[in-house]
Amino acid sequence: MSNQTDGLSEQARQALAARLTRELDGEQTLTGAPCAAYAIQGRTPIVVARPTEQAALATALTLAAEAGAALAPWGAGSRMALGYPPSRLDLVVSLERLTRVVAYDPADLTITVEAGMTHADLNRTLTEQRQTLPLDPPLPARATIGGTLATGLVGLRRSLYGAPRDLALGMRVFDAAGQPLTAGGAVVKNATGYGMTRLYIGSLGTLCIIAEASFKLTPQPESEATILAAAPGPQQLLAAARAVNALAVRPSAITALHVAALPELARLIPGHERRALLAIRVPGDEAVVMRAITEIHTALRGAEVAPLLTLDGASHAAFWDSANDFAALRVHPREALARVSALPAEMAQALDMAEKLASEHGLRLLWLADLATGALWLRLSAHEEATAANERSDGEALGRDVLFAAALREALDALIRRWRLVTTLACPPAIKRSLALWGADPSGLDLMREVKRRFDPQHRLNPGRFVTGA
Ligand SMILES: Cc1cc2nc3c(=O)[nH]c(=O)nc-3n(C[C@H](O)[C@H](O)[C@H](O)COP(=O)(O)OP(=O)(O)OC[C@H]3O[C@@H](n4cnc5c(N)ncnc54)[C@H](O)[C@@H]3O)c2cc1C
Repeated sequence: MSNQTDGLSEQARQALAARLTRELDGEQTLTGAPCAAYAIQGRTPIVVARPTEQAALATALTLAAEAGAALAPWGAGSRMALGYPPSRLDLVVSLERLTRVVAYDPADLTITVEAGMTHADLNRTLTEQRQTLPLDPPLPARATIGGTLATGLVGLRRSLYGAPRDLALGMRVFDAAGQPLTAGGAVVKNATGYGMTRLYIGSLGTLCIIAEASFKLTPQPESEATILAAAPGPQQLLAAARAVNALAVRPSAITALHVAALPELARLIPGHERRALLAIRVPGDEAVVMRAITEIHTALRGAEVAPLLTLDGASHAAFWDSANDFAALRVHPREALARVSALPAEMAQALDMAEKLASEHGLRLLWLADLATGALWLRLSAHEEATAANERSDGEALGRDVLFAAALREALDALIRRWRLVTTLACPPAIKRSLALWGADPSGLDLMREVKRRFDPQHRLNPGRFVTGA
């Protein structure tokens, strides 16, 4: 029996599956039990298309359009818990086999790749030329280029290298009808037409399916180090970040974090009693990094922040892998992850407010903040004693779920009222519907609706998952 609540009839869904299987050849489609692995938040597609060529991707989309089928693009499926559950789902279009390097010009520092390529594979290709694409998504061994562009989320080195919107030079996408559209190009100086890549990035697969993208690359730094320092509180963190920003050296990340945010911090700085840490990432040649360390130490001391440790080599790399994965740690059954965007100068205020709300509502808070660009990630969970595995009865567990949901909702609502741009990236599925996952309604909502209407008039692309159910 179908788990579809509206949309295509079961008969129409079966007909779609049969037609896709026939026209794409069996190798490129999945039906029956294997589709369960592509379920999105409780909805299972009737068929999965896994094209090996962009022409087959276009065919799948055209057939879906003819059938009026609802579909979801799929990269590696590592973050399908993002957003609301789809309101309809007939077809998953997986990009996992579109993984080619289309063009690479190391001398020009540009590359064009298909959207199903993982970040780890891309960076392996680039390493031979000592180049990199510094987007830093969590789980890079799985996360695809298309998935990262679709979510538009930004990593911790944004202040130096830019966001996906700055690094993507061009894109080839398909609209809901299966028509290819090209935006931008593969050259750095590209000023023709509207900035359509910027529209596609962050649209969560609700406007188009990204098939390939061109990027501006960065040379890999010859050397890197990370200075870890401890601060008495948020105000000192911010003062230290300002002092470091005023130096001639340019760090690639100025990140503040709760001492318990990353498990390996306990090993690196055992028994450290202060809760707020600062991590400053410095790239350059060896002489530049050495000079930067000295200057940063002086600036930190002037802001009452004590340098603790300098990481290099494997410990430096492991620290940043772990910091990038902060957003990807397994979410405890009573835990949520939210991201607050604010001005860098407002970070101390945002953090103060989050700490007060967590304490008022009996929630445990771990946090990590990009002080250079103004992003604060919050992990809010029920306290340990309230999440013990030995809950005496289902009723007791349910009661605690309800209490956690109420506390979380109140804390997030208060954050949204003040900061507006608050995205809940992960939370227990049962309480999703009661939360404003995408924060306050954005300004220009009517314009966004009109754009959606032009690209996907039948609301078939990722229906229901994004802002105001787009
Ligand atoms: C610094 C940073 C922090 C992040 N934090 C989080 C986080 O906390 N939680 C979180 O959920 N994500 C987070 N992300 C985003 C996540 O890392 C990316 O979504 C990731 O790259 C997913 O890759 P994937 O291939 O598994 O995508 P998938 O899980 O397959 O897809 C993710 C979303 O993108 C859509 N999509 C995938 N491929 C395409 C395509 N080719 N065209 C159009 N739409 C597509 C899907 O429909 C889905 O809605 C973060 C990213 C960065 C850079």
